[in-house]
Amino acid sequence: MSVRTRADLDQLPAYVAGKSVPGAIKLASNEVSGGPLPGVRETVATAACEVHRYPDIAVGRLTEVLAERFGVDTGRVAVGCGSVALCQQIVQATCNGPEDEVLFPWRSFEAYPIITRIAGATPVTVPVTDAHALDLEAMRAAITPNTRVVFVCTPNNPTGTVLHRAELERFLDAVPTDTVVILDEAYFEFVTDPDAPDGMDLLRGRDNVVSMRTFSKAYGLAGARVGYAVGPAKIIEALRKVCIPFSVNALAQAAALASLDAEDELKVRCAEIAEERDRVRSGLLDLGFEVAESQANFVWLPLGDTAQAFNDHCMANKVVVRTFAGDGVRVTIGKPDENDAFLAAAKSYRP
Ligand code: PMP
Repeated sequence: MSVRTRADLDQLPAYVAGKSVPGAIKLASNEVSGGPLPGVRETVATAACEVHRYPDIAVGRLTEVLAERFGVDTGRVAVGCGSVALCQQIVQATCNGPEDEVLFPWRSFEAYPIITRIAGATPVTVPVTDAHALDLEAMRAAITPNTRVVFVCTPNNPTGTVLHRAELERFLDAVPTDTVVILDEAYFEFVTDPDAPDGMDLLRGRDNVVSMRTFSKAYGLAGARVGYAVGPAKIIEALRKVCIPFSVNALAQAAALASLDAEDELKVRCAEIAEERDRVRSGLLDLGFEVAESQANFVWLPLGDTAQAFNDHCMANKVVVRTFAGDGVRVTIGKPDENDAFLAAAKSYRP
Protein backbone atom coordinates (compact mmCIF):
# COMPACT_ATOMS: atom_id res chain seq x y z
CA MET A 1 0.00 0.00 0.00
CA SER A 2 1.24 3.45 -0.76
CA VAL A 3 0.44 6.68 1.04
CA ARG A 4 -2.80 8.38 0.09
CA THR A 5 -2.64 11.98 -1.01
CA ARG A 6 -5.70 13.96 -2.14
CA ALA A 7 -6.78 12.80 -5.60
CA ASP A 8 -8.01 16.30 -6.45
CA LEU A 9 -4.46 17.68 -6.20
CA ASP A 10 -4.03 16.46 -9.80
CA GLN A 11 -6.19 19.41 -10.87
CA LEU A 12 -3.94 21.89 -9.13
CA PRO A 13 -2.25 24.18 -11.65
CA ALA A 14 1.42 24.94 -10.93
CA TYR A 15 2.49 28.49 -10.07
CA VAL A 16 4.98 29.60 -12.71
CA ALA A 17 7.37 32.15 -11.24
CA GLY A 18 9.35 34.70 -13.27
CA LYS A 19 12.85 33.41 -14.01
CA SER A 20 16.16 34.94 -12.91
CA VAL A 21 18.78 34.39 -15.61
CA PRO A 22 22.43 35.28 -14.82
CA GLY A 23 23.59 38.21 -16.94
CA ALA A 24 20.07 39.11 -18.11
CA ILE A 25 17.74 41.91 -17.01
CA LYS A 26 14.80 40.51 -15.06
CA LEU A 27 11.52 42.24 -15.89
CA ALA A 28 9.44 39.19 -15.09
CA SER A 29 8.04 39.34 -11.55
CA ASN A 30 6.72 42.88 -11.03
CA GLU A 31 9.46 43.57 -8.51
CA VAL A 32 10.99 47.03 -8.27
CA SER A 33 14.58 47.19 -9.49
CA GLY A 34 15.50 49.80 -6.88
CA GLY A 35 15.54 47.43 -3.88
CA PRO A 36 14.10 48.16 -0.45
CA LEU A 37 13.59 51.88 0.24
CA PRO A 38 16.93 53.45 1.28
CA GLY A 39 15.68 54.31 4.78
CA VAL A 40 14.85 50.66 5.47
CA ARG A 41 18.12 48.90 4.77
CA GLU A 42 19.84 49.50 8.10
CA THR A 43 16.79 48.29 10.03
CA VAL A 44 16.76 45.07 8.01
CA ALA A 45 20.47 44.51 8.67
CA THR A 46 19.96 44.99 12.42
CA ALA A 47 16.91 42.71 12.48
CA ALA A 48 18.93 40.03 10.68
CA CYS A 49 21.11 39.65 13.78
CA GLU A 50 18.06 38.81 15.93
CA VAL A 51 16.76 35.86 13.95
CA HIS A 52 17.49 33.37 16.74
CA ARG A 53 14.28 34.68 18.40
CA TYR A 54 10.76 33.90 17.21
CA PRO A 55 8.95 36.90 15.79
CA ASP A 56 6.00 38.60 17.50
CA ILE A 57 3.27 36.05 16.76
CA ALA A 58 0.55 38.71 16.80
CA VAL A 59 2.53 41.13 14.58
CA GLY A 60 1.42 43.69 17.16
CA ARG A 61 3.35 46.85 16.35
CA LEU A 62 2.89 46.63 12.57
CA THR A 63 -0.83 45.92 13.00
CA GLU A 64 -1.16 48.98 15.24
CA VAL A 65 0.67 51.27 12.84
CA LEU A 66 -1.42 50.08 9.88
CA ALA A 67 -4.65 50.46 11.88
CA GLU A 68 -3.70 54.00 12.80
CA ARG A 69 -2.81 54.84 9.23
CA PHE A 70 -6.18 53.68 7.90
CA GLY A 71 -8.24 54.98 10.84
CA VAL A 72 -9.61 51.60 11.94
CA ASP A 73 -9.14 49.55 15.07
CA THR A 74 -6.60 46.76 15.20
CA GLY A 75 -9.30 44.08 14.97
CA ARG A 76 -9.79 45.14 11.37
CA VAL A 77 -6.20 44.59 10.22
CA ALA A 78 -4.37 41.31 9.55
CA VAL A 79 -0.77 40.95 8.44
CA GLY A 80 0.28 37.91 6.45
CA CYS A 81 3.20 36.13 4.81
CA GLY A 82 2.64 38.11 1.63
CA SER A 83 -0.85 39.12 0.53
CA VAL A 84 -1.07 35.81 -1.32
CA ALA A 85 -1.18 34.05 2.06
CA LEU A 86 -3.98 36.34 3.20
CA CYS A 87 -5.93 35.58 0.01
CA GLN A 88 -5.51 31.91 0.78
CA GLN A 89 -6.55 32.38 4.39
CA ILE A 90 -9.83 34.03 3.33
CA VAL A 91 -10.64 31.22 0.91
CA GLN A 92 -9.67 28.68 3.57
CA ALA A 93 -11.89 30.42 6.12
CA THR A 94 -14.94 30.59 3.84
CA CYS A 95 -14.83 27.50 1.61
CA ASN A 96 -15.28 23.97 2.67
CA GLY A 97 -15.91 21.79 -0.38
CA PRO A 98 -16.58 21.67 -4.13
CA GLU A 99 -20.03 23.26 -3.82
CA ASP A 100 -18.37 26.48 -2.68
CA GLU A 101 -17.42 28.74 -5.57
CA VAL A 102 -14.63 31.29 -5.86
CA LEU A 103 -15.17 33.78 -8.66
CA PHE A 104 -12.43 35.75 -10.37
CA PRO A 105 -11.63 37.46 -13.67
CA TRP A 106 -9.40 35.72 -16.16
CA ARG A 107 -6.76 36.37 -17.02
CA SER A 108 -5.81 37.60 -13.58
CA PHE A 109 -3.42 36.70 -10.77
CA GLU A 110 -2.46 33.10 -11.28
CA ALA A 111 -2.58 32.24 -7.57
CA TYR A 112 -6.41 32.57 -7.50
CA PRO A 113 -7.16 29.19 -9.15
CA ILE A 114 -4.42 27.51 -7.10
CA ILE A 115 -5.73 28.85 -3.80
CA THR A 116 -9.25 27.81 -4.77
CA ARG A 117 -8.22 24.25 -5.62
CA ILE A 118 -6.14 23.89 -2.45
CA ALA A 119 -9.29 24.67 -0.44
CA GLY A 120 -11.19 22.02 -2.44
CA ALA A 121 -13.53 24.74 -3.77
CA THR A 122 -14.63 25.34 -7.38
CA PRO A 123 -13.10 28.14 -9.45
CA VAL A 124 -15.46 30.18 -11.65
CA THR A 125 -13.81 32.51 -14.15
CA VAL A 126 -15.13 35.48 -16.10
CA PRO A 127 -13.11 36.61 -19.13
CA VAL A 128 -11.71 40.15 -19.19
CA THR A 129 -13.08 42.48 -21.86
CA ASP A 130 -11.52 43.16 -25.27
CA ALA A 131 -9.80 46.13 -23.61
CA HIS A 132 -8.25 43.65 -21.10
CA ALA A 133 -10.27 45.14 -18.22
CA LEU A 134 -12.43 43.41 -15.62
CA ASP A 135 -16.00 42.83 -16.81
CA LEU A 136 -17.88 43.67 -13.63
CA GLU A 137 -21.30 43.19 -15.18
CA ALA A 138 -20.46 39.66 -16.27
CA MET A 139 -18.88 38.99 -12.88
CA ARG A 140 -22.05 40.17 -11.15
CA ALA A 141 -24.08 37.85 -13.37
CA ALA A 142 -21.81 34.91 -12.52
CA ILE A 143 -22.44 35.18 -8.76
CA THR A 144 -24.61 32.34 -7.42
CA PRO A 145 -25.85 31.51 -3.92
CA ASN A 146 -22.72 29.32 -3.69
CA THR A 147 -20.24 32.12 -4.39
CA ARG A 148 -18.23 32.49 -1.22
CA VAL A 149 -15.45 34.78 -2.46
CA VAL A 150 -15.00 37.17 -5.40
CA PHE A 151 -11.53 38.43 -6.29
CA VAL A 152 -11.44 41.91 -7.81
CA CYS A 153 -7.89 42.70 -8.85
CA THR A 154 -7.29 46.39 -9.56
CA PRO A 155 -4.90 47.18 -11.17
CA ASN A 156 -5.32 43.73 -12.67
CA ASN A 157 -2.29 41.46 -12.90
CA PRO A 158 -1.20 40.83 -15.68
CA THR A 159 -3.22 43.27 -17.79
CA GLY A 160 -2.56 46.40 -15.68
CA THR A 161 -6.03 47.90 -16.13
CA VAL A 162 -7.71 49.70 -13.28
CA LEU A 163 -11.38 49.99 -12.33
CA HIS A 164 -13.06 53.32 -11.80
CA ARG A 165 -14.63 54.25 -8.48
CA ALA A 166 -18.25 54.54 -9.67
CA GLU A 167 -18.36 51.18 -11.47
CA LEU A 168 -16.70 49.41 -8.54
CA GLU A 169 -19.14 50.95 -6.04
CA ARG A 170 -22.07 49.85 -8.19
CA PHE A 171 -20.66 46.33 -8.28
CA LEU A 172 -20.06 46.17 -4.53
CA ASP A 173 -23.60 47.36 -3.87
CA ALA A 174 -24.94 44.54 -6.06
CA VAL A 175 -22.94 41.68 -4.51
CA PRO A 176 -24.92 39.63 -1.94
CA THR A 177 -23.81 40.58 1.55
CA ASP A 178 -22.86 36.99 2.44
CA THR A 179 -20.25 36.86 -0.35
CA VAL A 180 -16.79 38.16 0.52
CA VAL A 181 -15.23 40.54 -2.01
CA ILE A 182 -11.45 40.79 -1.93
CA LEU A 183 -10.17 43.99 -3.47
CA ASP A 184 -6.67 42.90 -4.43
CA GLU A 185 -4.75 46.17 -4.54
CA ALA A 186 -1.22 44.76 -4.74
CA TYR A 187 -0.27 47.53 -7.21
CA PHE A 188 -2.24 50.36 -5.59
CA GLU A 189 0.78 52.59 -4.96
CA PHE A 190 1.54 52.91 -8.70
CA VAL A 191 -1.93 54.17 -9.66
CA THR A 192 -2.06 57.72 -11.04
CA ASP A 193 -5.60 57.76 -12.53
CA PRO A 194 -7.66 60.16 -10.37
CA ASP A 195 -10.84 58.16 -11.09
CA ALA A 196 -9.38 54.98 -9.61
CA PRO A 197 -10.70 54.16 -6.15
CA ASP A 198 -8.77 53.86 -2.92
CA GLY A 199 -10.14 50.52 -1.71
CA MET A 200 -9.91 51.67 1.90
CA ASP A 201 -12.65 54.25 1.19
CA LEU A 202 -14.95 51.51 -0.06
CA LEU A 203 -14.78 49.48 3.15
CA ARG A 204 -16.86 51.94 5.12
CA GLY A 205 -20.41 50.67 5.67
CA ARG A 206 -19.68 47.34 3.95
CA ASP A 207 -19.43 44.13 5.97
CA ASN A 208 -18.22 41.88 3.16
CA VAL A 209 -15.36 43.80 1.53
CA VAL A 210 -11.64 43.43 2.30
CA SER A 211 -8.73 45.39 0.84
CA MET A 212 -5.45 43.50 0.37
CA ARG A 213 -2.13 45.23 -0.09
CA THR A 214 1.48 44.17 -0.04
CA PHE A 215 4.97 45.37 0.76
CA SER A 216 6.30 43.19 -2.10
CA LYS A 217 5.84 45.64 -4.95
CA ALA A 218 6.23 49.39 -4.47
CA TYR A 219 7.99 48.99 -1.12
CA GLY A 220 10.51 46.57 -2.63
CA LEU A 221 10.20 43.81 -0.02
CA ALA A 222 9.14 40.84 -2.18
CA GLY A 223 11.74 38.57 -0.61
CA ALA A 224 10.65 39.42 2.93
CA ARG A 225 7.06 38.18 2.36
CA VAL A 226 4.70 40.61 4.03
CA GLY A 227 1.27 41.93 3.10
CA TYR A 228 -1.85 43.09 4.91
CA ALA A 229 -5.62 43.02 4.80
CA VAL A 230 -8.04 45.62 6.12
CA GLY A 231 -11.69 44.71 6.43
CA PRO A 232 -14.63 43.89 8.67
CA ALA A 233 -13.68 42.45 12.08
CA LYS A 234 -15.56 39.16 11.45
CA ILE A 235 -13.58 38.39 8.29
CA ILE A 236 -10.27 39.47 9.81
CA GLU A 237 -10.89 37.30 12.86
CA ALA A 238 -11.65 34.29 10.64
CA LEU A 239 -8.55 34.70 8.53
CA ARG A 240 -6.40 35.04 11.62
CA LYS A 241 -7.74 31.71 12.84
CA VAL A 242 -6.49 29.87 9.76
CA CYS A 243 -3.04 31.48 9.89
CA ILE A 244 0.01 29.30 10.46
CA PRO A 245 1.72 30.43 13.71
CA PHE A 246 4.71 32.76 13.28
CA SER A 247 4.19 33.02 9.52
CA VAL A 248 5.21 36.68 9.39
CA ASN A 249 8.93 36.58 10.10
CA ALA A 250 10.88 39.08 12.18
CA LEU A 251 12.79 40.62 9.27
CA ALA A 252 9.54 41.17 7.42
CA GLN A 253 7.91 42.87 10.40
CA ALA A 254 10.91 45.17 10.96
CA ALA A 255 11.26 46.00 7.26
CA ALA A 256 7.55 46.75 6.83
CA LEU A 257 7.50 49.03 9.87
CA ALA A 258 10.55 50.95 8.65
CA SER A 259 9.01 51.18 5.17
CA LEU A 260 5.90 52.87 6.54
CA ASP A 261 8.23 55.53 7.94
CA ALA A 262 9.80 56.13 4.51
CA GLU A 263 6.70 57.47 2.79
CA ASP A 264 8.54 60.33 1.04
CA GLU A 265 10.97 57.88 -0.54
CA LEU A 266 8.06 55.70 -1.61
CA LYS A 267 6.28 58.61 -3.31
CA VAL A 268 9.38 59.57 -5.31
CA ARG A 269 9.93 55.97 -6.41
CA CYS A 270 6.32 55.39 -7.45
CA ALA A 271 6.19 58.65 -9.44
CA GLU A 272 9.36 57.63 -11.30
CA ILE A 273 7.99 54.17 -12.08
CA ALA A 274 4.63 55.56 -13.25
CA GLU A 275 6.49 57.95 -15.57
CA GLU A 276 8.63 55.13 -16.94
CA ARG A 277 5.53 52.95 -17.38
CA ASP A 278 3.89 55.60 -19.52
CA ARG A 279 7.12 56.07 -21.50
CA VAL A 280 7.48 52.34 -22.17
CA ARG A 281 3.83 52.05 -23.18
CA SER A 282 4.07 54.98 -25.63
CA GLY A 283 7.32 53.54 -27.01
CA LEU A 284 5.61 50.20 -27.66
CA LEU A 285 2.56 51.86 -29.20
CA ASP A 286 4.88 53.84 -31.50
CA LEU A 287 6.44 50.54 -32.56
CA GLY A 288 2.98 49.27 -33.50
CA PHE A 289 2.34 46.92 -30.56
CA GLU A 290 -1.04 46.69 -28.90
CA VAL A 291 -0.55 47.49 -25.20
CA ALA A 292 -3.26 47.50 -22.54
CA GLU A 293 -3.66 50.73 -20.56
CA SER A 294 -1.65 50.16 -17.42
CA GLN A 295 -1.80 51.69 -13.96
CA ALA A 296 0.63 49.20 -12.44
CA ASN A 297 4.42 48.70 -12.59
CA PHE A 298 4.14 46.53 -15.70
CA VAL A 299 2.61 46.54 -19.16
CA TRP A 300 0.67 43.82 -20.97
CA LEU A 301 1.16 42.94 -24.61
CA PRO A 302 -1.72 40.74 -25.83
CA LEU A 303 0.37 38.94 -28.43
CA GLY A 304 -1.71 35.75 -28.58
CA ASP A 305 0.03 33.00 -30.53
CA THR A 306 3.18 35.07 -31.04
CA ALA A 307 3.76 35.58 -27.30
CA GLN A 308 6.35 32.81 -27.08
CA ALA A 309 8.28 34.08 -30.13
CA PHE A 310 8.40 37.59 -28.62
CA ASN A 311 9.53 36.08 -25.31
CA ASP A 312 12.33 34.18 -27.05
CA HIS A 313 13.46 37.30 -28.90
CA CYS A 314 13.61 39.26 -25.62
CA MET A 315 15.55 36.41 -24.00
CA ALA A 316 18.03 36.40 -26.90
CA ASN A 317 18.50 40.10 -26.14
CA LYS A 318 19.08 39.32 -22.44
CA VAL A 319 15.75 40.63 -21.19
CA VAL A 320 13.56 38.24 -19.18
CA VAL A 321 9.84 38.93 -19.47
CA ARG A 322 6.87 36.93 -18.19
CA THR A 323 5.00 35.04 -20.87
CA PHE A 324 1.59 33.43 -20.75
CA ALA A 325 1.82 31.16 -23.77
CA GLY A 326 -0.87 31.73 -26.38
CA ASP A 327 -2.10 34.82 -24.57
CA GLY A 328 0.38 37.61 -23.92
CA VAL A 329 3.55 38.94 -22.39
CA ARG A 330 3.83 40.99 -19.21
CA VAL A 331 6.82 43.26 -18.86
CA THR A 332 7.77 44.78 -15.52
CA ILE A 333 8.92 48.39 -15.50
CA GLY A 334 12.53 48.53 -14.34
CA LYS A 335 15.14 51.29 -14.17
CA PRO A 336 15.31 53.61 -17.21
CA ASP A 337 18.32 51.77 -18.72
CA GLU A 338 16.60 48.39 -18.22
CA ASN A 339 13.48 49.72 -19.91
CA ASP A 340 15.63 51.06 -22.77
CA ALA A 341 17.13 47.58 -23.22
CA PHE A 342 13.63 46.11 -23.40
CA LEU A 343 12.42 48.75 -25.88
CA ALA A 344 15.48 48.10 -28.05
CA ALA A 345 14.64 44.39 -28.03
CA ALA A 346 11.01 45.14 -28.92
CA LYS A 347 12.18 47.40 -31.75
CA SER A 348 14.30 44.68 -33.33
CA TYR A 349 11.52 42.06 -33.07
CA ARG A 350 10.20 40.76 -36.39
CA PRO A 351 7.10 38.58 -36.06
N1 PMP B 1 -2.00 40.00 -5.74
C1 PMP B 1 -1.53 40.23 -6.95
C2 PMP B 1 -2.46 40.79 -7.97
C3 PMP B 1 -0.20 39.96 -7.27
O1 PMP B 1 0.24 40.18 -8.51
C4 PMP B 1 0.64 39.45 -6.28
C5 PMP B 1 2.09 39.12 -6.54
N2 PMP B 1 2.43 38.72 -7.77
C6 PMP B 1 0.10 39.24 -5.02
C7 PMP B 1 -1.22 39.51 -4.78
C8 PMP B 1 0.88 38.62 -3.92
O2 PMP B 1 1.92 39.36 -3.49
P1 PMP B 1 2.71 38.96 -2.19
O3 PMP B 1 2.25 37.61 -1.74
O4 PMP B 1 4.13 39.00 -2.56
O5 PMP B 1 2.32 40.00 -1.18
